[in-house]
Amino acid sequence: MYTVPKLEDYSEAELDRVFAELSREMYRDLAGCNSEADVEAFRVKWLGRKNGILVQISDSWIKGAPKSARREVGVRFNGLREQIEEYAVGSLAIAKGEKTVQLGTATRVLGDIRQRETDAKLASDRLDITLPGIQRPIGVKHPVLRVMDEIVAVFKAMGYSIGDGPEVETDYYNFESLNFPPNHPARDTQDTLFIAGQEQKPVRDRLLLRTHTSPVQIRTMEKQPPPVRIVIPGKVHRNDPLDATHSPVFHQVEGLAVDTNITFCDLKGTLDHAMKALFGSSVKTRFYPSFFPFTEPSADMQVSCIFCAGKGCRKCKFSGWIELLGCGMVDPNVFEFVKHNGYDSSKVSGFAFGMGVERIAILKYEVEEIQLFYEGDVRFLEQFA
Ligand SMILES: [Zn+2]
Repeated sequence: MYTVPKLEDYSEAELDRVFAELSREMYRDLAGCNSEADVEAFRVKWLGRKNGILVQISDSWIKGAPKSARREVGVRFNGLREQIEEYAVGSLAIAKGEKTVQLGTATRVLGDIRQRETDAKLASDRLDITLPGIQRPIGVKHPVLRVMDEIVAVFKAMGYSIGDGPEVETDYYNFESLNFPPNHPARDTQDTLFIAGQEQKPVRDRLLLRTHTSPVQIRTMEKQPPPVRIVIPGKVHRNDPLDATHSPVFHQVEGLAVDTNITFCDLKGTLDHAMKALFGSSVKTRFYPSFFPFTEPSADMQVSCIFCAGKGCRKCKFSGWIELLGCGMVDPNVFEFVKHNGYDSSKVSGFAFGMGVERIAILKYEVEEIQLFYEGDVRFLEQFA
């Protein structure tokens, strides 16, 4: 709290001294008034009823003044009070950004103070265009997309082209044409996110978020007669809660090869080559019988553990092998849906495979949890720069 200077006597020189000191204090305060809150603090300090400076002057200088000096002190006091009141109003108007204020000299003085400050600020803020600019680090590809591109590149080198299709699919392309008949139990293995409010539509026309990239296989075969060799990278959706190994959105790369005389040997050779290209030439593959509606026979492909080279460790649960993808020979029932475009199962055969990109990224980069890929934490992502 500011305390008014002590008044030694009531001589004119002493009154000049103390009022000059108050005046300096006031201008210092005004120079610091930049907001409505500042103006309010100014008002309280000077005009406040409790210990405001004017109250202090009135209490200590006026009340104790000898009769001869009372008038002189009173005149100076009133002059100071008027100035302060006007400054408070003027400062508030300026803080609020009001431009036309019809006030007296005090406000003009105040305006001059403000103008000097603004000029000083402009001078100090002057832009030096010769200074070097701000360097922004260049981003890199997200690890999931990088692995996806790597997988695609391996198949491109083998002569595959890239297929693309919608993420919002019809039941027909996502399920029916891939040999998942309505009410088939295999549909339950893919927790599907359906678009709401479609009960009026026939089942095959209902829209959903694709649960795999496989619908693009049918879409491609509808457009292009055999032979066909495509890989389909893309985003897929399932109603899985986010945990260490699951995410409601993830990425797949699927492949499809259809031609005359395609055999299971071609499937094994192709995938074995792809795994060696991705994980190194010492990696081995093996195939286990499995089930998928759209392939027959179907298999799960395993790779020899890339962490222990097949000796057995915690990552491979001491089996020496890691399950990596599903594959199989295209089921003749699937060809039935595109028979009109040259896919006659007595003349052509083919294989298909599909892999989770995050799963491969987790193995390649030894990432513990799938969530890390989606959180956008720069500390995690910059490791891949
Ligand atoms: Zn292992």
